[in-house]
Amino acid sequence: MPKIKTAVFGNTSQRRLDTCHEEFKEVMTLVIAALPYTDPDTGVEIIDCGIICGERSEQEQEEAYRLGNSKARFGESLHNTYPSNACDTLPMRDGRYIWDDKELHAAYAKLVLDTAWHQGYRWKWGGDFESFYDGPHFERAL
Ligand SMILES: [Zn+2]
Repeated sequence: MPKIKTAVFGNTSQRRLDTCHEEFKEVMTLVIAALPYTDPDTGVEIIDCGIICGERSEQEQEEAYRLGNSKARFGESLHNTYPSNACDTLPMRDGRYIWDDKELHAAYAKLVLDTAWHQGYRWKWGGDFESFYDGPHFERAL
């Protein structure tokens, strides 16, 4: 399979990223520019990534709650401010989000959190939550 270097986000991802806090715009732009990336510890390769969600409106939050994609009602989630204090992002392959590969999520999260760290930001990753695994979720330390 050819490895396609994306370098910048597609329109949909960029539109979602634009609803996020400046920290996310800054860091995620660096992350996508760094791909493809091979995690030095595990050899896991991250080819591409996309932004699933930034700010969530009341209707969108209640829908996510109803579908079980979020445990929060509107106003309880860091996605419910504008700009959003949380950003959902996942690695992609062949234009599709990878939802079910926790090893890939962990390697991606390390890249994202390290990039944030280098910019001076201390983010939390939803894959580290004890309550429930939220692999795509990153949030600012508030
Ligand atoms: Zn989230």
